[in-house]
Amino acid sequence: MFFPDAHNHLQDPRLAESREEIIAAAKKSGVARMVVNGTGEADWPEVAALARAHPGLVIPAFGLHPWRVNERGENWLATLRDFLREFPSAPVGEIGLDRWLPGHDLPAQEKVFRDQISLAQELRRPLVIHCLKAFGLLEKCLRDHFPLPRNFLLHSYGGSLEQTKIFAALGGWFSCSAYFFLPRKAAQQAVFQHIPLERLLVETDAPDMRGPEELSPHPLADREGNPLNHPANLPAIYTAAARLRGMEPTAFSAAIAANFQNFFR
Ligand SMILES: [Zn+2]
Repeated sequence: MFFPDAHNHLQDPRLAESREEIIAAAKKSGVARMVVNGTGEADWPEVAALARAHPGLVIPAFGLHPWRVNERGENWLATLRDFLREFPSAPVGEIGLDRWLPGHDLPAQEKVFRDQISLAQELRRPLVIHCLKAFGLLEKCLRDHFPLPRNFLLHSYGGSLEQTKIFAALGGWFSCSAYFFLPRKAAQQAVFQHIPLERLLVETDAPDMRGPEELSPHPLADREGNPLNHPANLPAIYTAAARLRGMEPTAFSAAIAANFQNFFR
């Protein structure tokens, strides 16, 4: 089976010590491709290094994450452009808007987000978007830049079905992570049941967004012993998502793999 991971952070420092074992375990479990999302100037070089070291496995993405906007240096946009030019198939991500973060600086987030949408338009790249509690502003930004040359992915999507219709009409795709299979996230499972199948992707967001125990067959923890989401947990998420959609797992995985090719090309 071909299991592509639409979103993870393999470059995360919490994975540094066991990164090669993690990559080997992910491949062994059937993970065939993974989009590794940079979050700022500090980790873009590591994302690029992983893409150079694992060209068949890693699709790099470069973007300034809303949590990192106030760490940006003067030349961040030029540096970002350089990384994107080196990797012509790299999406612009992870970028976005977040009003959930304590002390969020929304004006700075919006400025940085719009700058990166413009860069994606210039370079004709898809966008990988993080959005928490800011869907109204997200819609406004996307409408102002409409139409985009390539589509955008709302990763670990937490919006409503109404919002799904709005974003789908603007060229949105949606990805599901293990986190939404926690019992308290039942409302979001209902949304994922109704997202158009051809706009759906599956992700781990590893090492974060760990789901229930049964979707975490590969144990992993940080130095303090806090559990982490292992990239090799991906096939278990596919199985759960297939069940949610009422589809046979092989047919579901084939459909999502085709979507992945379509979106990331
Ligand atoms: Zn992420």
